[in-house]
Order: sequence, then C-alpha cells, then structure tokens
Amino acid sequence: MTALLEAEQITVGYGGAPVLHGVDLEVPAGAITAVLGANGAGKTTLLRTLSGLLRPGTGRVVLDGQDLRGVKVEEMVRRGVAHVPEGRGVVTELTVDENLRLGGLWRKDRADAKKALDEVYELFEPLARRRRFPGHQLSGGERQMLALGRALVGRPRLLLLDEPSLGLAPRVTGQIMGLLRTLRDETGLTVLLVEQNVRSALSVADSGVVMSLGRVVASADAGTLRDDEDMRHAYLGF
Ligand code: ATP
Repeated sequence: MTALLEAEQITVGYGGAPVLHGVDLEVPAGAITAVLGANGAGKTTLLRTLSGLLRPGTGRVVLDGQDLRGVKVEEMVRRGVAHVPEGRGVVTELTVDENLRLGGLWRKDRADAKKALDEVYELFEPLARRRRFPGHQLSGGERQMLALGRALVGRPRLLLLDEPSLGLAPRVTGQIMGLLRTLRDETGLTVLLVEQNVRSALSVADSGVVMSLGRVVASADAGTLRDDEDMRHAYLGF
C-alpha cells in the first residue's frame, strides 16, 4: 500500500527535553491507522508534529513523497491535511453554523464548500438541529461532531484525530467510529486516529502502532494487535 504520510526517525521535544525519540510511521492511503499507548506516550506530540504545529528536531515528515520541512500549517490544510485536536477546538462563542463555515473559509471552490457544509448537516443530524446554537451550549458529543464536521467541510484527504472518544458515551463513540469507517469506504479518506479507547480504535482501524515513552514499540494490522495478549497487557492495559 502507498503511504500518504510518513514520519522518518523524527525526534521532537519541548524546550530541549526530548519527547519523541526517533519515531518511524507510515500512514497508508485510504485506510484507518490507530496510534495507541498510555498517557504521556507521546501520541499527541506525534500528531502535532505530523500536522506541522511542531517541528521535528531531527528526521522528517513526508506527504505525497514530499518533505514537509518549512511548509506552513495553512499550506498543510490546503494540501488536504485536517487536524482535529484533543479538547476539540470548537470556538464556543460562535454558532454551530459559523464554526462549520470556518472549516471552508480558505476554499476557493465556494460551491463545493457549501455542498460539503450541507453534507455535514446530513451526516450529523444533531448539528443540523442546532445550527444557531453557540458552541458553549453543546454537549461533549455534539462538540466532537462539530470539530469533526468542521474538518470535513474542508474536504480533507487525511484526517488526524486526537482522542475523538474522550468524554463521550459509548453510543456516541460508536457513531463516530462508524462514521470514520463510512468515510474511508465511500470517499477513500485516510485517517490517523489517536485513541486511549483501544477497543473502539481497533474495532475500526485497519492497522495500528503502539507507542511507549516516545517510541513506537509495535506496528501491526488491527487484528494482530487485538489478539496479542502480551502486547495488550504490557502497553494497552487490558
Ligand atoms: P495524553 O493521552 O495524556 O495526551 P500522549 O501520549 O498524547 O498522552 P503527549 O501529550 O504527547 O502524550 O505527551 C508526551 C510527553 O510530553 C509527556 O511527558 C508530557 O508531559 C510532555 N509534554 C506534552 N506537551 C508538553 C508541553 N507543551 N510542554 C512540555 N512538555 C509537554
């Protein structure tokens, strides 16, 4: 399978303290890849580096075979990379509709941006019912839908998702995972999914990597990770 995005031996730190120690990762096109591991393993740091928010000290990030050194975050968005951060990043003072439109502001094809907006309302019926509600009046699940919906209005090729299940009821988590599967199958969307909820992530992912203390300690297809008891006990806590 062709990799859409690759990390090659990336090392990243905050103020000189290293957090990632030479991470290699391949994100295959048209598939869902899970990034698993305990709190503090470096998953969020990895995602922030892949989306261009953090710069690797050494190593490189490659998109479509092209080194991303020096490429700005806005340019990453134009190239089809959408990052939905942990904590969701919804603008709570703006309405649902305004938040969603933000996701398409940069797009030149206004007609398609409008079409993408309509599609998001079809996908997330609770958002359609609350178009004029300010972000702060939404539930956790609705905020998660809004953050995801805003990314989708930009018609990304690659979605980087940080802990979409955080704080959500199992039913809502199931809906979000189901939606990711549908988007992969119907639109060929590529997803990199950071999750603490290992069961949910492996129920939808095609493959996964396990991180521990800033390193990738395992990389395999999702079924293999699910069945590997030693791995689950050692790194995934179940
Ligand atoms: P979590 O699920 O808790 O977010 P994680 O696997 O995503 O865990 P990171 O958030 O990437 O892990 O954190 C990895 C390490 O980097 C931790 O030791 C954390 O304390 C440290 N760290 C994260 N963000 C910062 C920051 N802004 N400044 C300094 N250290 C940080």
